[in-house]
Amino acid sequence: MKRVLIWRVLPVVVALGASAVALVMAGRTASAADGAARLPDLVQQVPRDLVITRAGSGPKAPYALGFRSAVSNVGDGPLVIEGHRPGGQVGTMAADQVVDRDGSPKAIVAGVGRLRYVLSPDHRHWHLLGFDRYELRRAGQRVAAVRDRKTGFCLGDRYIESAHALRSAAAPAPVFSSGCGLGEPQLLGVSEGISVGYGDNYAANLEGQYLRLSGLSSGRYVLVHQVNADRRLHETDYGNDAASLLLQLRWRMGQPLVRILRRCPGTDRCDRPVV
Ligand SMILES: [Zn+2]
Repeated sequence: MKRVLIWRVLPVVVALGASAVALVMAGRTASAADGAARLPDLVQQVPRDLVITRAGSGPKAPYALGFRSAVSNVGDGPLVIEGHRPGGQVGTMAADQVVDRDGSPKAIVAGVGRLRYVLSPDHRHWHLLGFDRYELRRAGQRVAAVRDRKTGFCLGDRYIESAHALRSAAAPAPVFSSGCGLGEPQLLGVSEGISVGYGDNYAANLEGQYLRLSGLSSGRYVLVHQVNADRRLHETDYGNDAASLLLQLRWRMGQPLVRILRRCPGTDRCDRPVV
């Protein structure tokens, strides 16, 4: 039976380069099953603390919608990201995911992303790129009308997750609380992550925590927050990686008004009719 399955799968693996890589990776984690892999489970929280601001002053200063974002880990093990770079490479690191295994050495999932040393006005450190994505979509459409321009994330155990059931015991104390190599562009490696029972959050209007409203017409929009959108991080469940709000945008006397019509945990389709 097993042999038949392998025989059927093989031609597909050969035909699809990208899928082949994904399968090999999945196999590697699964083959650690005797020392069962303790994968994280990231949960995207519903966007919160919406606030409208203007970037600058003057009649043409664009309006933006700020929001808080948050991602919790409710899985079997911590999310651990380890960045590393060869000495000659400046400003960027390759990111690996380190997976705990019961009674076995940790497993490494190589090349899950990249880190970049970011120079922003208020802080300089190593950011993991693309961990969480924000966009506004017109209701009924899947393509983004506006996308975030966030420069990355310094993951850490910033709050205690209390709203969701955990698949395993929470870490007794925060583990990830470093500044991601603050002021240390010369580092050859950096580590960041989210422990089980903790989450990583960003307040509205911090760097990249907003989307531009100017240029959008009045109507209904879905504000989508999505973690691990490219699914490069290994998790137990990808079904809870997006959360969204259904919004009504109106312009009055040149000023935007935003009203929340619906909150939708666990989906990016807050515009779908409720059944
Ligand atoms: Zn930062």
